[in-house]
Amino acid sequence: MEALTIQTSSRTDLVPITQQVQRVVAQAGFDQGLAHVYVPHTTAGVTLNENADPDVVHDMIEDLERLVPWQQAYYRHREGNSAAHVKATLVGSSVTVPVLGGRLTLGTWQGIYLCEFDGPRARRVLVTLIAGA
Ligand code: ZN
Repeated sequence: MEALTIQTSSRTDLVPITQQVQRVVAQAGFDQGLAHVYVPHTTAGVTLNENADPDVVHDMIEDLERLVPWQQAYYRHREGNSAAHVKATLVGSSVTVPVLGGRLTLGTWQGIYLCEFDGPRARRVLVTLIAGA
C-alpha cells in the first residue's frame, strides 16, 4: 500500500489525482489487477468523473453545494461541518480501477478526483494494488 498526501486549496475542492495513482502503479511494476484508492477521512471522499472539461468539476461542486448547504437550522454536530460529512458519504470513500498492462483502464474522459469538503487541508489517499487476472 502506498500513501499519497494531497494538499487541497479551498473548502470544497475536487483535486485530480489520476497521475499520482498511475505513478504508484508504475513504480510498483504492477501489471494486472485492481487499484483500490481509499480516502481515510470523514469530510473528504474520492470519485471518478470527467477529466477533460474543467466546467464539469465546477458544475459538480455547485450542485453538491446546492444539495447540501453549509448551514442548516437543524444541524446538531457542534464542529459545524455536518455538510462536509454528508457530502463525504454521498461521494463515498473509495474507488476501484482495473489495471491492465501497467495502466489504469480509465475511460477516455474519466479521471480520479480527491473530493475535499472541509478544506483546505492536507489529505491522505491510500492506494492498494491487488494482483489478479
Ligand atoms: Zn465534524
